[in-house]
Amino acid sequence: MAAIDSFDFKGKKAIIRVDFNVPLNDKFEVTDDTRIVGALPTIKKILNDGGAAVLMSHLGRPKEGPEEKFSLKHVISKLQGYLPGVTVKFVDDCIGDKVLKAKADLQMGEVLVLENLRFYKAEDKDKEAMPGFAKQLAEGIDVYVNDAFGTAHRAHASTAIIAQFVKEKMAGYLLDLEIKFLGDTVANPERPFVAIVGGAKVSGKLEVLKSLTSKCDTILIGGGMAYTFYKALGYKIGNSLVEEDLVDTAKQILNDAKSKGVNFMLPVDNLAADKFDNGADIVEVGTEIPDGRMALDIGSKTLAAYSAEIAKAKTVVWNGPMGCFEMSNFSKGTFGVCKAVADSSAISIIGGGDSVAAVNQSGLADKMSHISTGGGASLEFLEGKELPGIKAVRE
Ligand code: AMP
Repeated sequence: MAAIDSFDFKGKKAIIRVDFNVPLNDKFEVTDDTRIVGALPTIKKILNDGGAAVLMSHLGRPKEGPEEKFSLKHVISKLQGYLPGVTVKFVDDCIGDKVLKAKADLQMGEVLVLENLRFYKAEDKDKEAMPGFAKQLAEGIDVYVNDAFGTAHRAHASTAIIAQFVKEKMAGYLLDLEIKFLGDTVANPERPFVAIVGGAKVSGKLEVLKSLTSKCDTILIGGGMAYTFYKALGYKIGNSLVEEDLVDTAKQILNDAKSKGVNFMLPVDNLAADKFDNGADIVEVGTEIPDGRMALDIGSKTLAAYSAEIAKAKTVVWNGPMGCFEMSNFSKGTFGVCKAVADSSAISIIGGGDSVAAVNQSGLADKMSHISTGGGASLEFLEGKELPGIKAVRE
């Protein structure tokens, strides 16, 4: 049971750090409201208990103070649509007298949305000003709830610092799910535990690879990063993506996996293209990529072998595509892995922007146990790091 379940918000004013960093079109309409929908369980719990909810978030990357296009007022109508009968108010600032008055006037059962936190540098950039800003955010508030996993890896005023100024603090339902899957399940996995790691580069996944090598039974490698490992093994890589400066590191990871008894699998075949283009000439080759060609997807034998490992798994973590899945002719590996994960009875955890996008495109999202809402945060969590936004509500 989540800690929030056993808490009674009756008569309390709770501030929730939500993730309303939603895409807007040129008319400032929300084009994807997944994140707003995701925040509803926590908001409703507070309201149903007889409490009041103050919502704070960032939106986009404002550079110098307030900007119309990044105002959180643009999310109000969507939010109101999901909360019929509830008074949803907006105040065009997040600290100061106006906000204090709005908090004081807020009745139980009502929602107050504050303006974009990142209109103040004290939210995310000015470290010295953070405590003062966080203290102001906490004024007039009884409970702090963090439900924004996407920013939990950042020690910002609203994600970590504010917790020290509020007596009661806890994770919201969304954050709680992330902790349960990316934290608890990965720390104590049912075995076999299979990790699928792909994406463009080894450099972006170095720490996660090291961490998973100490936890997993099997690691399946795909995507551009595979060819740095090929190079480490002395295979020909043609024009495939490679990080020369990480070839030695790749060797170390391979040795480390071997010494730990991890089944570290690389593609046994690949789709090698004569150019980086969906219309390229494609040949399926083994582990030697011909000169003048680049490997842009795993081949059919690899997909079969990886699918067989996934079928045996009890826990699967997947981060990063198997190839350039944005181009249809190089998407088979990624969508094939997606299907294998969906078909398996394992607890399946999907983290990272591109694998989540692939799962959503495949229409198999409801077959996964958990789809993480945070790209960078999920990677850092899998790396075994303690995330400031989680630490703050657990202390
Ligand atoms: P990442 O952000 O590191 O997870 O990388 C995702 C990107 O890696 C996607 O845009 C893919 O198109 C790209 N990618 C995957 N496989 C390859 C490959 N074999 N060669 C070049 N880029 C790739």
